[in-house]
Amino acid sequence: MKATIDKDACVGCGLCPDTCPAVFEIEGDLAHVISEEVPTGEEEHCRQAAENCPVSAITVDE
Ligand code: SF4
Repeated sequence: MKATIDKDACVGCGLCPDTCPAVFEIEGDLAHVISEEVPTGEEEHCRQAAENCPVSAITVDE
């Protein structure tokens, strides 16, 4: 599974690192993907982060 963030859409709300800190972190004012390849066991957290993003900036490719 791969996760990417649309930097033009992200508003830096901080929700994705709260939901899935193994994949997302805040860098400066925006979220950043630590590891594009989602670690085993983190898939559900990652999907949740994508669903909860208020501006739908996260794309998850299964
Ligand atoms: S949840 Fe969405 S808007 Fe919020 S920091 Fe993550 S990518 Fe950015």
